[in-house]
Amino acid sequence: MIQVNRNYGKLKESYLFYNISRKVKAYQAEHPGVKLYRLGIGDVSLPLCEAAVAALRQAAEDQGNPERFQGYTPECGLPFFREAVSAHYAGRGIALEPEEVFVSSGASDELGDILDLFEASSAAYIMEPAYPAYIDASIMAGRRIVRLAAGPENGFLPTPEREPDADLIYLCSPNNPTGAVYSREKLKQWVDYANARGAVILFDAAYEAFIESDLPHSIFEIEGARTCAIEICSLSKTAGFTGTRLGYTVIPKELERGGMNLNAMWVRNRTTKTNGVSCILQRGGAAVFTPEGQRQVMENIHYYKRNARIMTEALAEAGTEYWGGENAPYVWMRCPEGMKSWDFFDRMVREIQVIGTPGEGFGSCGEGYFRLSAFGRAEETAEAARRMKEWLKGLRGQRGEGK
Ligand code: PLP
Repeated sequence: MIQVNRNYGKLKESYLFYNISRKVKAYQAEHPGVKLYRLGIGDVSLPLCEAAVAALRQAAEDQGNPERFQGYTPECGLPFFREAVSAHYAGRGIALEPEEVFVSSGASDELGDILDLFEASSAAYIMEPAYPAYIDASIMAGRRIVRLAAGPENGFLPTPEREPDADLIYLCSPNNPTGAVYSREKLKQWVDYANARGAVILFDAAYEAFIESDLPHSIFEIEGARTCAIEICSLSKTAGFTGTRLGYTVIPKELERGGMNLNAMWVRNRTTKTNGVSCILQRGGAAVFTPEGQRQVMENIHYYKRNARIMTEALAEAGTEYWGGENAPYVWMRCPEGMKSWDFFDRMVREIQVIGTPGEGFGSCGEGYFRLSAFGRAEETAEAARRMKEWLKGLRGQRGEGK
């Protein structure tokens, strides 16, 4: 009989978003017609920018033109797309050869697929609270997981302080869910550590476009990263490609482990396991990196950042402790009155009809915290923030604080 991958049996029921939608449906069934304010989604609410739409439309038309029709595309990416990404990095002072950039169908796909490069015996070092896919993809691959708890004491940005006995280091900056962003100094500690140990950093930069302060957008801004890091990036949150699907991965040619070159291994992997990414999407993606495309996507990012500011101002006025929101689309708040994150979720839906994401869903050390997303529509976010501010103030007032 065929042996199935029994690691799937070790996966915890993925209950976070399922549980949220079940609770929301139950509330709506009991309260038909009552409007809910959603600060829970990680999906974007603004459409693609015009520059991307125009390029996608043109590329689709080209597919019906005998002179411009494109069949299979090169598995690692069309040259114009790889060049557009490397030129974008050059604009930030990072020199990349186009052959170090690989097109992908998005960061999620890549975060799972890239594990093919490593023996399952090399454990994964994952900071919690974490994007749930890191844990689940590692479990499916049969990998041991070493968890590193992040908390307010390190600004949710842990550094390698102890010997973790793990060689695949997941870093996500700006972070989902905490919104925390690594400084160059702290990233340098990880880079030095990975090089000394012979580990590899998987750097998830899905939210880099939200950074406005002088903080690193890419791990390749850090000296030494070319010999220890892979960067996984996506146009989902940068340019609204969540449903369109496009991303890219950077693997420097210097990255070698055990006498093997990881860039060459990934070429071998892609040429075997994919037949490329749609040429239409790569045209749309390249348009995002033109000056006009960048101007347009930054308008959308500023829209989301204004939402984040409205939320953080409301939390500050209510005297609630929070992190993130400044260089990230997520605000991470402490649940008031020592409430557990699911209790806070339930009360907030019932009492002010605002939905967010309980921190416990991102790992046990997220218990007692709550994630708010800035990806909603501005009017809804403003109303949700107003409701939260009054409600949180009321909760403090009930306890005799804030008077
Ligand atoms: N990485 C992080 C940290 C994310 O939050 C997400 C999506 O929410 C992804 C990766 C997945 O992005 P993509 O849409 O490119 O698969």
